[in-house]
Amino acid sequence: MNGRLLGKDGKEFAQKALDLMEQFDVPPTPENYAVWISFASDTNPELCESVRSHIQSAAAFTPEVSSDLFDQYFQWHAIQDAILESGGVMSEELGHVRETLRAAEADTLAYGETLAGATSQLDGAVTDPGIKKLVESLVSATAKMQRRSHDLESKLQATSKEVTKLRDNLERVREEAMTDALTGIANRKRFDESLRKARREADTHGTPLSLVLCDIDFFKRFNDTWGHQTGDQIIRFVAGCLTRHAPESHIVARYGGEEFGIVMPAATPQEAYAIAEKIRSTVESKKLLRKSTNEDLGNITISMGIASFEAGESIESLIERADTHLYRSKTEGRNRTTTDGAENQLGRSAA
Ligand code: GH3
Ligand code: MG
Ligand code: MG
Repeated sequence: MNGRLLGKDGKEFAQKALDLMEQFDVPPTPENYAVWISFASDTNPELCESVRSHIQSAAAFTPEVSSDLFDQYFQWHAIQDAILESGGVMSEELGHVRETLRAAEADTLAYGETLAGATSQLDGAVTDPGIKKLVESLVSATAKMQRRSHDLESKLQATSKEVTKLRDNLERVREEAMTDALTGIANRKRFDESLRKARREADTHGTPLSLVLCDIDFFKRFNDTWGHQTGDQIIRFVAGCLTRHAPESHIVARYGGEEFGIVMPAATPQEAYAIAEKIRSTVESKKLLRKSTNEDLGNITISMGIASFEAGESIESLIERADTHLYRSKTEGRNRTTTDGAENQLGRSAA
């Protein structure tokens, strides 16, 4: 899937590709469409050579041949992104092509009717068999053209539906792959991806970026006392607190078992600290009840470490600094937030 396809040449290539696919009896699936549009637009010399030599061999484009061509020249995961990004535009583009074809079909139909009318009039008036034959062949060619543009239009319609479906499926699969099943928040994979992206932006534009790491205190003990399922309930509860207090533009993720991370693009150390403290005190203030029995679980607390991005710093270093601060929160008594700078060991409410 190439940017060129979406430009002004898109219609021409789409039509050429569909013509060829029809000629060689290749079904209009998104994969085949990718191969043939690439061939029609001459964007990949090796693919063009393979297709050309197969045409020359006069062998059929069986489903196996088509799928080999696709696998060979289109790395599936590489074009996933392209489909996701261009899928919308692509469907739109296919929609324009269909409109054009529909208009052409209507023109052809009108033209065919005019010709047919002329033929019947000519029947009486013209005796020259040459002219009669010529008009008849024009009528038949026109009918053929009309059928052809009608077929093309249906194929395009099917293809654009397939593209939309494919994009929706990919979006769903990707979403699932990035979501933590227990809490429904971002998982480690999305956390890593978001942090990489946020770091790039902060580095390029010189904007702030803060990273918060958070770990539930004495969770093993909690699990031992109340069981794993109640432990899970607590993990979900903490995830909910984090999500509720972090702005939408921040990425709240389950970083590990009972550890969470918040990527805070554009957040200054002060802003990050204020949000972290709000979360910490909210968690601490809640009286928890065991869902199954309504027993009082007491309170749970969390410890936080915050690091703010320094120009040129690597992701590893940023995480390591946040983790060091988190460790310090733990060793100095838990239920607190530690940030960059020796003076910034903050938190622990009234206690
Ligand atoms: P600390 O205050 O030092 O963090 O103490 P801790 O007990 O929380 O420390 P540690 O990180 O060693 O223990 C984490 C525990 O979290 C161990 C593991 O049994 C538990 N855990 C990890 N993932 C899950 C999970 O998905 N569900 C439940 N219920 N427990 C989990
Ligand atoms: Mg832990
Ligand atoms: Mg812990």
